[in-house]
Amino acid sequence: IGVSGYSAAAGLLGVGARVAVVDERDGDAERERATILETLGADVRLGPGSTAAIPDSIPGSIPGGPDVVVTSPGWRPDAPILAQAAAAGVPILGEVDLALRLRDPEHAAPWLTLTGTNGKTTTVGMLASILSAAGLRTAAVGNIGAPVVDAVLDPEPYDVLAVELSSFQLHWSRRLWPRAAAVLNVAPDHLDWHGTLDRYAADKGKIFEGCEVACVYNVADAATEELVRAADVVEGCRAVGFTAGIPAAGMLGVVDGVLADRAFVEQRRTSAAELCNVRDLPSSAPHNVANALAAAALARAHGVPTGAVRAGLTDFTLEPHRIQRVAEVDGIPYVDDSKATNAHAAVASLLSYDSVVWVAGGLAKGQDFGDLVHAVKDRLRAVVLLGRDRRLIFDALARHAPEVPVVEVADGETEVMDRVVAHARRLARPGDTVLLAPGCASFDLFASYGARGDAFSAAARRLAGGAPHSS
Ligand code: ADP
Repeated sequence: IGVSGYSAAAGLLGVGARVAVVDERDGDAERERATILETLGADVRLGPGSTAAIPDSIPGSIPGGPDVVVTSPGWRPDAPILAQAAAAGVPILGEVDLALRLRDPEHAAPWLTLTGTNGKTTTVGMLASILSAAGLRTAAVGNIGAPVVDAVLDPEPYDVLAVELSSFQLHWSRRLWPRAAAVLNVAPDHLDWHGTLDRYAADKGKIFEGCEVACVYNVADAATEELVRAADVVEGCRAVGFTAGIPAAGMLGVVDGVLADRAFVEQRRTSAAELCNVRDLPSSAPHNVANALAAAALARAHGVPTGAVRAGLTDFTLEPHRIQRVAEVDGIPYVDDSKATNAHAAVASLLSYDSVVWVAGGLAKGQDFGDLVHAVKDRLRAVVLLGRDRRLIFDALARHAPEVPVVEVADGETEVMDRVVAHARRLARPGDTVLLAPGCASFDLFASYGARGDAFSAAARRLAGGAPHSS
C-alpha cells in the first residue's frame, strides 16, 4: 500500500474489480491510504503476518482465489505469497504492466521508456523536459515516483509518457510495447535480488520487447547492444546507438562539442542534425552528456524537432544530490553526488574531475571496489572514508592505489560529516574538488541518500562560513 500499490488498487477498484490489499506495514501513511481504499470497497489487511498468504476470500469476489496478483516491485519472486500465486498459476503483474492493461486503447499515449543501472532519473527528467518543450502534454512517471497507473487514468489525456523503469519493475512486467526504449548502461547492482548479472541484465532487456520505432543502446556498453539484439520487436524497429564520440550513420553522438543526430535525419545518410552545444547542457560531465544523448534519441524517435531538443535540454536542471556544487572552501569546490550509490556511478562521477578528494563509503551491497579504484586512481588526491563497509574500499585502495592518502572516520564519532569535511579541507590542494560520491547505499548512517547529501553540504557550508563546528 505504498505509492504505486495504492494507485494500482485504486485503479482496479475504479474499473469495478474486487480488491484485497495486504501490507506488513501499518504506520500512519498506510492506515490513511487503507481508509480511502476501504471506502472505495477494498478489503485491506495491514500489519505483521498479513502478507504471509493470499487472502482466502475476498469479499464479493468469485470463490477460488484471485484472478491476478499485483505486486510491489521490490518483492522477490520467492516471497511466500508470490510463490503461492505462481504455484497456483495466478498471473503476477507489476503496477506498470497493470497500467498498460488499464489504459484506454483508443486514446493511449505512447510510452518512451528507459532503464539502466545509473542515470535513469536524470535522463527521464531530460526527456520530459524535451517533450514539454515540443508542446506535448507529458509526465515523467514510473520509478521516479509517479505511478504509471495514475498517468494512464488521468482524465486529461497525455500526448506521450516518459517512463523510468527499474530492473525490479521490468522483472514483473511482460511486453510493454513502447514506442521507443533505451537501456543506458548495465553494471553490477542489486545482485542480491536478481541472483546473477545475467538475470539482472535480462530483466533490463525486457524493456525492448514489442518496441515499435527505436531500441536505443549505449555504444560504450556492449551489454546494452546485446539486449537489443536479443529483443523481439515490431518489424521495422531500429537499433539506435548513442556515443560520446563521433556518431556513425544511424547513431547519435558528439561532433565538435555539439550533440548530433545521425539517426533520425531525413536527408542523405551522411547528414547530421545539430541538437545542442555540450556547454549549454545543465552538466557537461561525460555521463550527463550520455544521458542527454539517450533522452534526445528517445525524443527524436517520437519525431520531436531539433529546436525542442535544444530547448528542453538547456532548460533542464539536475535533481539535487547529483553532481551538485554545494559549497566552496579556500577556493575548493565541494560537490554532492550522494546519489552515486554504487561503484559504477561513483566511477562516472570521479572521472568528471581531474583531481579529487574523494569522500566514500556506506553500505556496499555486496559490491567489489577493485575495478572502481583501478579506474579512478590517477584522479585521487586523497580519500576520506566513512560508513559501515568503508574497510572494503580501504582494502581496494591499499591494493590498487597504495600511494593515495586515506583517512577513515569512525561511525561512532559525532557529526561524522563535520569530521569528514575537516579532513577533506586539510587534504585538498588548489585545483582539487572535494567530491561526495559514496559508491554505497546510505542507510547505515543516514535515512536516505538525500539526508547524507544534506549532511555533507551543511558541514561544508559550516566550514565555508567559518562557523564553529563540533570535533
Ligand atoms: P538513477 O535514477 O538510475 O539512480 P540518477 O540520474 O539519479 O540515476 O543518477 C544517479 C547517480 O549515477 C548520479 O549521481 C551519478 O553519480 C551517476 N550517473 C548518472 N548518470 C550516469 C551514467 N549515464 N553512467 C554512469 N553513472 C551515472
